[in-house]
Amino acid sequence: MTSPLLQVRGLHAQYGPTRVLHGMDFDVRQGGITTILGANGAGKTTTLRAVCGMVRTQGEMALAGERIDGKATEAIVRLGVAHVPDGRGTFMNLTVDENLRLGAYTRRDRDQVQADRERVFGWFPRLRERIRQQAGTLSGGEQQMLAVSRALMLRPRLLLLDEPSFGLAPRIVQEMFEIFGEINRSEGTSMLLVEQNAALALKLADHAYLLETGRVVISGSAEDIRSDESVRRSYLGY
Ligand code: ATP
Repeated sequence: MTSPLLQVRGLHAQYGPTRVLHGMDFDVRQGGITTILGANGAGKTTTLRAVCGMVRTQGEMALAGERIDGKATEAIVRLGVAHVPDGRGTFMNLTVDENLRLGAYTRRDRDQVQADRERVFGWFPRLRERIRQQAGTLSGGEQQMLAVSRALMLRPRLLLLDEPSFGLAPRIVQEMFEIFGEINRSEGTSMLLVEQNAALALKLADHAYLLETGRVVISGSAEDIRSDESVRRSYLGY
């Protein structure tokens, strides 16, 4: 077996004196999609923030064997970790085009950046139509597409997705998740997906962890978890 792209062991995180994660272990395999599920306040958002160095942590995190715990966010981004935060994180006053350019700011390969912009428009054609429009005037679905596209402009090895379904119409969510699957298959981009919509996440992911107040209580292949009725009823509510 190849070593995982992201390996996390004994992860603790805290905001000031408030401890939120209590020794989590989890992996994202190379080219894989891992999902972290859990109720409101379980610590899902904090887990993603921990991976990209945005919150105080203890424990070990390694990306392709290189330790990233304790590194600054910018250094982690340069290693190929792109974060699509909850609340989307687009720059509302900038245009679609400007947001995409910002996504590629760490890259030196300018000619490839242009090609990647085209590739992003291939996945999200509506963004091409809105290229000069201010991000703040886009619909919720388009803003989420832009946030994902901006992250993809980094050519990430690992994409961190925080509740991408939040507040969007079911049809848009369906479309978005199909595109995540396509990107994963065609680009080999690994993903760490945090979701409240467990059914949706378990369809996309290959591996899942259930989080309860900062601890992993169940983990396994997404298929096993999906087909375990008692887990579904007790933890996933569907
Ligand atoms: P949600 O789906 O509601 O976002 P979550 O599983 O993503 O939930 P987190 O946002 O990671 O959970 O929050 C975990 C815990 O940390 C919660 O108890 C929350 O109140 C607390 N918390 C989150 N952000 C902060 C902060 N900036 N300062 C202090 N406590 C925080």
